[in-house]
Amino acid sequence: DELISQIAAGEVVERPASVVRELVDNALDAGARNILVKLMAGGVRSIVVEDDGCGIPVAQLPLALKRHATSKIASLAELESVGTMGFRGEALAAIASVSEMSVASRTADAAHAHRLDARSGELSAAARSRGTSVEVRELFFSTPARRKFLKTDATELAHCVEAVRRHALARPDVGFAIWHEGKLVDQWRACSSEQRIADVLGEDFVADSRAFDHSAGPLALTGRAGLPEAARSRADQQYVWVNGRYVRDKLISHAIRSAYEDVLHGQRQPSYVLFIEIAPELVDVNVHPTKIEVRFRDGRAIHQSVRRAFIDALATSRS
Ligand code: ADP
Ligand code: MG
Repeated sequence: DELISQIAAGEVVERPASVVRELVDNALDAGARNILVKLMAGGVRSIVVEDDGCGIPVAQLPLALKRHATSKIASLAELESVGTMGFRGEALAAIASVSEMSVASRTADAAHAHRLDARSGELSAAARSRGTSVEVRELFFSTPARRKFLKTDATELAHCVEAVRRHALARPDVGFAIWHEGKLVDQWRACSSEQRIADVLGEDFVADSRAFDHSAGPLALTGRAGLPEAARSRADQQYVWVNGRYVRDKLISHAIRSAYEDVLHGQRQPSYVLFIEIAPELVDVNVHPTKIEVRFRDGRAIHQSVRRAFIDALATSRS
């Protein structure tokens, strides 16, 4: 069972940033208003994610760390319309199998918090306000082959920060802070979506991009299309979310690229942010454990709509 978990972990946990992403997903699913990410040595030595969400009842604490234990879906039918970020019940078990993990949590009605040490199974009293803290130490300590693939602390840190930026852009209503080695790296307070884009991607990006807002039936597309002639346009700032989930999708990037080619005939890949909201039954997020891929029921319609949203935004900027 330990081996099976470790193999499964390989699919979910690639590097510290994967842990950060899963833990922040969980914090968001728990309704957190503020999320704190604290890292040591690029997250390799330790990752702590603290939230002020609903907490885990002490009776369910051991279950939360078990493989395929999720409190988020009760039936296969619900898998069709999953509204939470997590639903597989794999992340915590997978992370625990390749690290030293402990979870401290407190629900609103609990007299105090409880901490569960994943390895020993030891449960103890802990002090914290409502919410959950997950601590992950010494990632891949027992799988040196995997640990060898990690890059420098600076690179791993950059990936962790990027993971939080993706969440922060999608959830402007939630406050985020990232600390590394006891120093504040980035902090974003709850604000409007426009403000969050400016806070995370910079005022330059806002000035050099055009907003769009397209809604058609079960599909809503909002975001900003960067103007390629903008000197500070950065190709690595291309973000797409589907129902709040950061994704990388060939169909969508193709639609955007073709819009830019049509309107601007430019070779440069500009920055953009695109938020796709779609009826959950029209998209399958259950394709890959890391949930970065999605499959649309009607890819053609998505392609056309995305293309149109960008063409309109870019055409407006020209007139
Ligand atoms: P999933 O998110 O797919 O359900 P996880 O392994 O990520 O699976 O988490 C297992 C369970 O632990 C969740 O279903 C949830 O009940 C609980 N849990 C994990 N993290 C938190 C958190 N930060 N706040 C509240 N509950 C949590
Ligand atoms: Mg999860």
